[in-house]
Amino acid sequence: MFDEPATLLLNSALMNLFNSILAAIISIFPRWIIKPFAKPYVAGETITEALTHINLLNGKEFAATLDILGEHVQSIDEAADITKSYIEILDAISEQDLDCNISIKPTHIGLDISYDTARDNLFSLLTKAKELHSFVRIDMEDSPYTDASIKLYLEALVHYDNVGPVIQAYLHRSTEDIKRLNSEKFNVRICKGIYSESETIALQLEDEINDQFIQLVKNIITGDGYVGIATHDLTLINALDNWISENEISPDRFEFQVLFGVPMKGRLQELLDKGYTVRQYVPFGKDWHDYSVRRLKENPAIVSYVIKNMFKKK
Ligand SMILES: Cc1cc2nc3c(=O)[nH]c(=O)nc-3n(C[C@H](O)[C@H](O)[C@H](O)COP(=O)(O)OP(=O)(O)OC[C@H]3O[C@@H](n4cnc5c(N)ncnc54)[C@H](O)[C@@H]3O)c2cc1C
Repeated sequence: MFDEPATLLLNSALMNLFNSILAAIISIFPRWIIKPFAKPYVAGETITEALTHINLLNGKEFAATLDILGEHVQSIDEAADITKSYIEILDAISEQDLDCNISIKPTHIGLDISYDTARDNLFSLLTKAKELHSFVRIDMEDSPYTDASIKLYLEALVHYDNVGPVIQAYLHRSTEDIKRLNSEKFNVRICKGIYSESETIALQLEDEINDQFIQLVKNIITGDGYVGIATHDLTLINALDNWISENEISPDRFEFQVLFGVPMKGRLQELLDKGYTVRQYVPFGKDWHDYSVRRLKENPAIVSYVIKNMFKKK
């Protein structure tokens, strides 16, 4: 009935539909079904497993940042436990001499409980990180937390210089935030932004978000800051890589960052070969479920990829 190209097109459309439906309903699946999908993106459940992955990444010249999965803790004890675990991680990173820092979510160290709880825990981490010559990245959560996260960063900056925020390219406010924060001490990660935000708060069109992403990175580099370019979007990576080469930007002004496990078709190796720092964001821990569901929703194509691998003969 169909000629060959039409059949191929139909197959691919059906596969996309199948993947999207699965990704949409995946959050109601039991954990044992999600686990194989989580595996490529999560570096195990324990510190030991995570550090094994970091060792392997460092062996391939990648820098790393470690994240304990989880967010929105509701008790002071829980926030203190997470802070303690991060301190253990900083010690282990130092003992094993790894090229790795940490990324923390403000609500994971107590921001939902109170600003002061999050600040006190952040300062404990920064004191430890400073002692060990390490760095703490403050991940950016959804917009109700933007002001408090930037405030935490600015308050920390008064006492520490081993700290940096994340700015999301999709937020309308981000150009102004960068203008306000850009300085020699400014070490920022730029990402598109992963949370669902209304149009009053965030750009909705992919092209507009990409344009703003590129402009923010250029603003930081032409200012005094250091930028982590965090994206898997090859259009963005290529555009910024070209701009960096054309303008002979020194590699000590930026790094590229990606999430652990996202396939990049050899592009990361090319960036490493140019002498650029490429850092992988490595999440681990018992709270792998929600993180993995977010990743699957982001790229439904993974669903069929993992199913194929699950049933492939070894
Ligand atoms: C190092 C790092 C740190 C981040 N920190 C934050 C943060 O603090 N706050 C925040 O809001 N967001 C954060 N993000 C997420 C970010 O905001 C985006 O939601 C996410 O990176 C997807 O956007 P993209 O730039 O990769 O472009 P997209 O256009 O979404 O993706 C580009 C290409 O990569 C593929 N791809 C993207 N993600 C995946 C995936 N998980 N698996 C397989 N393929 C994929 C897409 O299918 C597409 O082909 C971070 C991202 C990175 C890389």
